[in-house]
Amino acid sequence: MNRKHGTPGQRDGIGLPDPIRLKRGAADEAVPYLLDAGFKTALVVADETTAGVIGRRLAERLGEAGGTAGLAVILPNAAGDVVADEASVMQAIVEAQRVRPDVLVAAGSGTIHDIVRYACYTIGLPFVSVPTAPSVDGFTSKGAPLLLRGEKITLPAAAPIAVFADLDVLCAAPQALIAAGFGDMLGKYTSLFDWVYGRETAGEPYDEETAAMTRSALAACVSHAEAISRGTEEGVRALMQALIESGLAMLRFGQSHPASGAEHHISHYWEMAFLRAGRRQVLHGAKVGVACAEVADLYQRYAAEGKPLPGACRRMLADLPDGDWLRGLLRAVGGPASAAELGVEPELRERALREAHHVRPNRHTLLRTINDNPNI
Ligand SMILES: [Zn+2]
Repeated sequence: MNRKHGTPGQRDGIGLPDPIRLKRGAADEAVPYLLDAGFKTALVVADETTAGVIGRRLAERLGEAGGTAGLAVILPNAAGDVVADEASVMQAIVEAQRVRPDVLVAAGSGTIHDIVRYACYTIGLPFVSVPTAPSVDGFTSKGAPLLLRGEKITLPAAAPIAVFADLDVLCAAPQALIAAGFGDMLGKYTSLFDWVYGRETAGEPYDEETAAMTRSALAACVSHAEAISRGTEEGVRALMQALIESGLAMLRFGQSHPASGAEHHISHYWEMAFLRAGRRQVLHGAKVGVACAEVADLYQRYAAEGKPLPGACRRMLADLPDGDWLRGLLRAVGGPASAAELGVEPELRERALREAHHVRPNRHTLLRTINDNPNI
């Protein structure tokens, strides 16, 4: 294998994917890239839907261009969802052992990426990202949120070595997936707050440049809300750009702090509850957007009651949009805006607000303080 391109970590110590292409027709550039980089044999990993969108085409094109490609179609669970759990990761690993590829290609949405990034980390192979929807910010991150025996855990994994985000593909994604990506971005309002809160109250590691990157990605995304709601090329490009930048911020920082706070913990809590009940899954970003609005309301009530807060956090909360404004935006882009619209019953909604901080015992969110100190 003669590789011209660096593996993650070689170029700058952080392991940023190179290249990151976001344009019409970008998927077609993946095949020449693979061959040029010396990857003769690839395993394309997709689900049934994304295999039809781009996975089969990538495998065929690689074959036509003189390479060899296998296609692994990850199977759904008993409820009918493709999830990033031990069974899916194992399926990808077994297919890779059969095909013996030089590289894997994640051709799909966030779940396929999480399966591939952990499989690649485990078997020591690089992977290339070909996202099929602007639905999450995790494409470029190196942490894999996985379900292990029904519990949501985040494990160290591999970041892609290159990203080919094809606007022709992304613009054709269902609006629900576009709205979910928007919801995942809105979640940065509360994740950025919780990150500062953790720094101020528990000395959690913090990096201002990374926070600024995430803030500007969020602002750019929100300023394109109207175009995103219409699913125009301009809107989808702005959303995907923001999602990629948020992912790169996580990669830069090395942990998910910039992009994941109490709103993500609530989303994970709901996801595990649905899984235990054998219910169909709801899109990650849809849950995050709704949870962000819930958390914003909770935090602002806390501040309004004059409860203790570090000065930096009080100032941030003053600038934080309220839940109704966030719900209005979610609705405008065509996503669910309330727990009820997600199918989350009042009891589960309340329980998540009380217990979701247990999902990440190492994070000091304001949600944790509120729940650990009922008397303040
Ligand atoms: Zn997320």
